[in-house]
Amino acid sequence: MSWRIKEQLRELLADESGYYVHHDNRRTRVALAYPNSYFVGMSNLGLHIIYRLLNERSDTACERCFLPEKRQQEEYIKHRTRLMTMETQSDLSSFDIVAFVMSFEMDYFNILKMLELGKINPLASERDERDPLIIAGGPCATFNPEPMSMFVDAFVIGEGEVIMPSFMEVYNKARVEGKSRQELLDLLAGIPGVYVPSCYEVQYASDGYGAHFLPISDAPPKVSRQWLKNLDEFPGETVIYTDNTEFKLHLVEIARGCGRHCRFCMAGYCFRRPRNRSLPAIEKMLLNAKKDGRRVGLMGAAISDYPEIDNLCRDILGDGLSMSVASFRADSVTYELVDSLAKSGLKTLTMAPEAGSKRMRAVINKGIEEEHLLNAMAMGIKTGIRNFRLYIMIGLPGESHEDIQGIIDMAVKLKTFMEDHGATGRLTLSINPFIPKPFTPFQWAPMASLKYIQGALKEINGALKKKHNIEIIAESPRDAYVQAVLARGNRNTGVYLWEAYKNGGSKGMKAVLREHGTSMEELVGQEIPPDVDLPWDILDMGFSRDYLRKEYMEAQKEAPVHTVQCFDGCKRCGVCE
Ligand code: SF4
Ligand code: SF4
Repeated sequence: MSWRIKEQLRELLADESGYYVHHDNRRTRVALAYPNSYFVGMSNLGLHIIYRLLNERSDTACERCFLPEKRQQEEYIKHRTRLMTMETQSDLSSFDIVAFVMSFEMDYFNILKMLELGKINPLASERDERDPLIIAGGPCATFNPEPMSMFVDAFVIGEGEVIMPSFMEVYNKARVEGKSRQELLDLLAGIPGVYVPSCYEVQYASDGYGAHFLPISDAPPKVSRQWLKNLDEFPGETVIYTDNTEFKLHLVEIARGCGRHCRFCMAGYCFRRPRNRSLPAIEKMLLNAKKDGRRVGLMGAAISDYPEIDNLCRDILGDGLSMSVASFRADSVTYELVDSLAKSGLKTLTMAPEAGSKRMRAVINKGIEEEHLLNAMAMGIKTGIRNFRLYIMIGLPGESHEDIQGIIDMAVKLKTFMEDHGATGRLTLSINPFIPKPFTPFQWAPMASLKYIQGALKEINGALKKKHNIEIIAESPRDAYVQAVLARGNRNTGVYLWEAYKNGGSKGMKAVLREHGTSMEELVGQEIPPDVDLPWDILDMGFSRDYLRKEYMEAQKEAPVHTVQCFDGCKRCGVCE
C-alpha cells in the first residue's frame, strides 16, 4: 500500500467542496469511474449529474475514481496498491458496483487500464460473485456498446436520470434476496434501457455484419433507449468545485439533444428529442454559481438555439457573473450572446461550419451559410473579439477535390474579412477526419482512406501555411481510424481491443488487426450494404432504419433538400409519439 498515493488523493480532496461522504454502511457502494485524468474528468457534467443523483438516494453511497497520471500509475504498480477512490481512498475492487462513464472511444483503453490497476478481472465472463458489478453509460454506451461487451456486465442505454433509479432498486432487492450474479444480471436485463450482453447470443455473417441476436432467458429482443421528458425534474450543474480541472466553471446544462439533423452527428440522433430547461430552473442553478462566484459554462448541443438565450445572458451578467460557451451555431447566434461572451472576457469565438463548400454543407444538412459565418464574425469583431476558430471535417461522404478547395477558400475569405474589419487576431481551423457513427444517416458510409485524409490535410496546410495568422490544428488520422473501428465495431472488436491493449494500447491496433487478417481500412473503409443487420441493432433509439436510410439517400442526391429542424407537433422520426 502506497501512503503517498493516499496522501495525494486526500490533498486533491482537500481542495474540493461539495463532495459526499456517507457513514451509513448499509448503503450500496458505487464507484463512479471516469476513464481519464481527474483534471479532464472533473469537467464532465455527466459525471456531476450522476454523482448527485446516486448520492441523493437514501440507499446508495457514490464515490469517484479517475485514471491516475502516468507517474502515479507506476507508483500504484510499484507499491502493489489497488486503484483507489477519491472520497474515502477505498479499493475500487471493494465496491458493489463500478460505473464507468463512456464518452469517447479512445477511453476504452483507459477503462481496461483502470480495471487492471484496480485488480478487477477485465473479462466479464471470468468475474465471479466476489467481484463488483461493472456497468457503463454515456454517449458511446448509448450508440454502440458491443466493442466493450466482453468487459462490461451491463450498459445503461440513454439517460441515467431515468434508468438508474430502477437499476438501484432492482440491484438492492436482488442482493437482499441473495440472488446470484447471473440471476441479478437476468433481472437487470428486464429494466427498460439496460443492456446485459451476456443475456444474448450473437451470430455474425462472415463480413462481421448481419448481426443476429438471440435473447437468452427473458431478455427483451431490443433494448429501448430511455430519455428524460422534462429536464427540469433533475438539476444539471456542477456539484463539486475544484480548481484542479480543465474548465474552472460552474457548468449549467440549458438544453439536451439537438434538433438540427446534421447527418454525421451522433448527438443529434441519439439524444432526441431536443429539450430545453425552463429559464426559472436555470436561474435556480445560477444562484449556486453566484454563491461560488464562478464563471458560468453553458452546456448544450447548440447553445444559440436556446429560445430565451438573450434573457439568460442578461440574467447571468445582471447577477454579476460571467459566462462561457464551447461554440454556437452561426445561424442562430444573437448580438446579445456574443456581446455577453465578450464582456465575460472571451477571446476566441468558435463556430462549426464543418465543411467549406456550400454543396458539402448541404450534403451534411448543416444549414450554415457563408453569410451566417460573416455575420457572426462581424458581431464578434464589433464586441472586441479578435480570434476565431472553425471546426472542419474532411473525408465526408461524397467529398471531392473542390470541397477541399472550398475549405481553403472559406478560410482565406474569413481571414480577409477579419483583417478588413480590423481584427488582427488568429483564425484557427480545427480539422477532424469524418468518422461514421452508429445511428446516424452516415452509419453506412465508408471512412475516407488514410492516404486521402493525409493528402487533404497536406493540401490545406500547403495552401494556408503562408497566410498570416491562420493556424491549423488537425487530429491524428490514425487515431481517428482507431476511433472509427471502435465506434462501428461488433463483439469481435472487443477481442482486437483487448489484444491491442496488451500490446501497448491504440498504437498496437494495426498489428493486432494484421494478425487477424484484417486492417482498419477493411473494417471501416467500405460502405456497409443497406440491408444487413448492424452490430448495434440490438438497441432501439426510437427511430427506424428506414428513416436514417432516407436521410442517407438524400445526402447522395446532386442537390440534397434541407431537412428542417425539429418542431412542436412533428412526428417525422418516431421519437415524439
Ligand atoms: S447543430 Fe448539428 S452538429 Fe451541432 S449538435 Fe446539432 S445536429 Fe449536432
Ligand atoms: S419526431 Fe420530429 S421533433 Fe421529434 S425528435 Fe423526431 S424529428 Fe425531432
